[in-house]
Amino acid sequence: MRICVLTPTEQFRNDILDVVRVFEGSGAEAVSEEEDGAALLRHTEEICGEVRRVRVEFLADGKRFESAREGKTQSGPLEDKRVHKRLIKQSVYDVCVSFYGRRPPWGSLTGIRPTRLVYMAMDGGLTPEEAAEEMRRQFDVSAEKTTLTLETVRTQLSLPRQKPGEIDIYVGIPFCVSRCAYCSFLSGEVGKGGQLRPYTDALKREIEGAVKLIREFRLTPRAFYMGGGTPTSLPGDLFEEVLEALRPLTDPCRERTVEAGRPDTLDKQKLAAMKNSAVGRISINPQTSHDATLKLIGRRHTAADTVRAYQMARDMGFGDINMDLIAALPGETAEMFRETLLWSREMRPESLTVHTLCIKHSSLLHLWEAKLPDGDMAAQMVADGRREAEARGMRPYYLYRQKYMAGNLENVGYALPGMESLYNVGMMEETADVLALGAGAISKRVNTRTGKILRAPNVSDIGHYIARTDEMLERKKTLLLSEI
Ligand code: SF4
Repeated sequence: MRICVLTPTEQFRNDILDVVRVFEGSGAEAVSEEEDGAALLRHTEEICGEVRRVRVEFLADGKRFESAREGKTQSGPLEDKRVHKRLIKQSVYDVCVSFYGRRPPWGSLTGIRPTRLVYMAMDGGLTPEEAAEEMRRQFDVSAEKTTLTLETVRTQLSLPRQKPGEIDIYVGIPFCVSRCAYCSFLSGEVGKGGQLRPYTDALKREIEGAVKLIREFRLTPRAFYMGGGTPTSLPGDLFEEVLEALRPLTDPCRERTVEAGRPDTLDKQKLAAMKNSAVGRISINPQTSHDATLKLIGRRHTAADTVRAYQMARDMGFGDINMDLIAALPGETAEMFRETLLWSREMRPESLTVHTLCIKHSSLLHLWEAKLPDGDMAAQMVADGRREAEARGMRPYYLYRQKYMAGNLENVGYALPGMESLYNVGMMEETADVLALGAGAISKRVNTRTGKILRAPNVSDIGHYIARTDEMLERKKTLLLSEI
């Protein structure tokens, strides 16, 4: 759909379009002027005393819908902006519900962290249950998604939080054996460009510098996470070198995770290296049990490779393995996703992350002009994923949403009690300080009381990262010295 938005509040134009995209998907294309065949969304408003009145008119396909809402203006500029934006978005949502004739599962929510709304309401004195109910009421969130959010918050509240003086450690290995069609991460193909050795050396320099910083600032590493890319796509000797160099940072941690996402990158040497470094949690991700889909999305392994990788890891004593699955992959039906869920039981992962396909602009799927599948089917798959996780005794412990997701749904991390990743919770909820190493990694400090976050990003380009490691360390030092 081509759509022209006329609004007196230019700063909220994208927010208005975001709401339309909840219904229309990425197909909503904004045009700057009224034109034949394009939909028109006209927003007007007025202030009478302390009341702001918002009106929205929507003309499309020869039909016309209208909505009106009002709310109190706020004395503080930041609070007023927040309330004003919400009023406009809800008015746009109202006309969209009338035009499209359906209520999306997450209602008018376009943000990526629904749990954040519950925590904000809890800060205002509500119980988790009251806060979730408030979210449901204000944003027209379905009962099912409200329960999911509440359960996620309850799990998170039962987990330990990062203490003052603690810091999480992230290491990024931006290489993979091939590029998945949906991937939007920074990842170069292993074997291309001869960057593996120079990257490993630069990373080891940065690790050495980070060890000094940890000592200088008297910090205690809490949770370690190695991601990317796929860290296990490094050749065995380089992988061992990196893990060994990391020992001063990983040894004090209470949790150590390595993404071994591609089953075809695992072997006994790498598993032994992880055992030596006391890595307790690994992630082996089949995404689907259907080989034809795996081929289509550019993953060079089969479902049988995944079963073998799990067996090898179990034989070597790994007792905490996460499995990622993706609902609504190209060409898959709800029945195929159910088959994947059944098949995955055989490997008995301790945690299960159910993603919903998302077509980001930087992905190959976007380049191929692939379309997201039907939202109802995606919702069915996601619901089946939740039922399966619950049947295995798992509970949701993190939850986030992205733009351009099938059915405008969500990604959920489920885990058996006690098997939740503290790093994941700190990362998703932005409640943990992180010292992040490697190309594209972002260090941050969080003030959980004020919500203020300071970030120090490393450069993303692998060549620049290799040449500018010292500068990346300086950025981290400045971050650690900053007042927050
Ligand atoms: S395994 Fe992950 S990081 Fe690597 S290409 Fe696929 S989605 Fe991207």
